[in-house]
Amino acid sequence: MSTLSTDLRRAIDGRWAHIREEARSELEPARFAPPSRELTREEYRARVADQLRELATTGHPARGLSKDMGGQGDFGASVTAFEMLGHADLSLLVKAGVHWGLFGGAVANLGTQPHHTAYLPRILSAELPGCFAMTETGHGSDVQSLGTTATWDPDTDELVIHTPTPAARKDYIGGAARDGRLAAVFAQLVTGGESHGVHCVLVPIRDEAGEPMPGVTIGDCGAKAGLAGVDNGRLTFDHVRVPRTNLLNRYGDIDEHGVYSSPIENPTRRFFTMLGTLVRGRISVAGGAGAATRTALTLALTYAGHRRQFAPPGGGDEVVLLDYRAHQRKLLPALATSYALLFAQNELVSRMHDVQLSGDAADPHDQRELEARAAGIKAVATAHATATIQACREACGGAGYLAVNRLPSLKADTDVFTTFEGDNTVLLQLVAKGLLTDYRDTFGDMDTLGMVRFGARQVAGAVIERTAARGLVERLIAAAPGRDSDGALLDRGWQCALFEDRERHLLETLAMRLRKAAAPDADAFSVFNDAQDHVIAAARAHVDRVVLEAFVAGVDACDDPAAQALLGRVCDLYALSTIEADKGWFLEHTRITPARSKQVTAAVNTLCAQLRPHAQDLVDAFGIPVEWLGTELVEPLADVG
Ligand SMILES: Cc1cc2nc3c(=O)[nH]c(=O)nc-3n(C[C@H](O)[C@H](O)[C@H](O)COP(=O)(O)OP(=O)(O)OC[C@H]3O[C@@H](n4cnc5c(N)ncnc54)[C@H](O)[C@@H]3O)c2cc1C
Repeated sequence: MSTLSTDLRRAIDGRWAHIREEARSELEPARFAPPSRELTREEYRARVADQLRELATTGHPARGLSKDMGGQGDFGASVTAFEMLGHADLSLLVKAGVHWGLFGGAVANLGTQPHHTAYLPRILSAELPGCFAMTETGHGSDVQSLGTTATWDPDTDELVIHTPTPAARKDYIGGAARDGRLAAVFAQLVTGGESHGVHCVLVPIRDEAGEPMPGVTIGDCGAKAGLAGVDNGRLTFDHVRVPRTNLLNRYGDIDEHGVYSSPIENPTRRFFTMLGTLVRGRISVAGGAGAATRTALTLALTYAGHRRQFAPPGGGDEVVLLDYRAHQRKLLPALATSYALLFAQNELVSRMHDVQLSGDAADPHDQRELEARAAGIKAVATAHATATIQACREACGGAGYLAVNRLPSLKADTDVFTTFEGDNTVLLQLVAKGLLTDYRDTFGDMDTLGMVRFGARQVAGAVIERTAARGLVERLIAAAPGRDSDGALLDRGWQCALFEDRERHLLETLAMRLRKAAAPDADAFSVFNDAQDHVIAAARAHVDRVVLEAFVAGVDACDDPAAQALLGRVCDLYALSTIEADKGWFLEHTRITPARSKQVTAAVNTLCAQLRPHAQDLVDAFGIPVEWLGTELVEPLADVG
């Protein structure tokens, strides 16, 4: 391990560096690494359930709970520790995320003190394994349309949980098929024939002996593309009765006379506030995806540094893969993006920690901005994971296809990260919605069409919302050379200005298009639907800008000159390869000339060549213990013949 990688690591480990170090030394591969031999589904599930109980004994889960609930209130530490699990077995990561993050998070954030006292200690210790039962066969992304009902019965003062149609069956639910005892079930809450929208109710699904509770039918989702250690299942409820007090009642309650009350009057706003409290799940998935991607890049770049193929004409040593331009192109821009996303993730986790420490006193604007930021980073980080892990698999040729070399399981296990905790396409629309409405309080009051009408009324000057680096970025932009001047390409101000300009233009033109929806006879749905590609492009451009600014801040904060210089070049590669990937847009909108566009491609090539000698330092800086990599790719074979 070179001093350069140690210095780089200090720069990228972020505010919770000590938690990363703790995980590196404590997460023993023998206990937490992926299985070294093929397991049956049942063996794998049992193994992960055991690992979960073992993790519970470390005390880590208590970090994620606030102090008034018996935890340590170190939310940033909790999410960082979770991210580090992403280097270990991803089935364990997901199982832990479902149990403590989603199920525990629902009880903590949607419940009130009696629920906290009754359940949280046994959730922390994993004695009470739980499920988060939101998705139904019929509705995944559109949670407001769930079909399951929770109806108050005045005769018994109970809630009756029921699955009225096959489409209302709970589906894909982690923990349902094997281990879960108690489920946080999302259902339409009904009193006196009136529906109050989706709320969450605790429903026991298995008894102490592990048998389904009366009225609960449990199914198994069976084999999946990956995550074989997670017991995803299905739940159907046939008039299952639970006490009224099983309603997690922080945002909506029913008294003993069946009278419904809520601190938030508007049902849409109430719904979004409830979902907003669960933001940590999305941030955690982005973190886990980042860790898995860094594992894949470490494997592929280490392999590329010693694997040889073809000798140059006329003889001589066979060429090391990473000396091929095509191979550098395959891996190094992706590595640069991983660095960029790691800085963005660190910034996001830090912001989340501060907002959540404020509890109920948190500024609603900050909370909405956090939710939109989490949605955007989750969408981009998980899409990057899927693309990069595939590229890494191919970069290792046949060896990349062998299970022993981890890339197949990384690929299979992370694939669904683009779908769960919010489908990426749907999340990017949420990001754009937040930007168009400037995260106003009204945000939560509006459905999509309301948002379109509201967004359309906004003045055209789209908001460029602030990031931690905003002051620095503004200074860089002010000092940037003109668009066509020599040397602009590697000028950070020029790069930032280009990212910002694209975002602003996409948002302004989007607002103009959507304005048509405000006309009295307009079909607002069609206006929005016709602009959906534009919506997604605007959201992506926004996330790209936020990620670049996080990287800029990270480079600025690095205190070692050599590490800072290297990070600066990695940041150039991120910025220019992102511009290159969207060069069609920049050319169409005359933001760059054809000549400048060719220079961008040439500069990406030059940066790849310049970074090639540092590739190993750059992946070593991720600090993934070699035992966690558990593969044949890391060490060159003594003699391949
Ligand atoms: C392994 C696994 C584990 C899971 N664990 C849990 C769990 O523990 N608890 C739980 O509650 N859920 C869980 N889920 C469910 C998961 O959250 C949902 O699958 C996810 O929310 C997507 O919903 P869906 O499958 O119904 O897809 P859909 O919402 O039907 O999406 C299908 C496609 O339609 C597109 N689409 C949808 N709406 C729009 C729109 N408005 N505009 C444009 N395109 C659109 C999407 O982009 C996507 O490509 C899990 C899923 C899996 C696969």
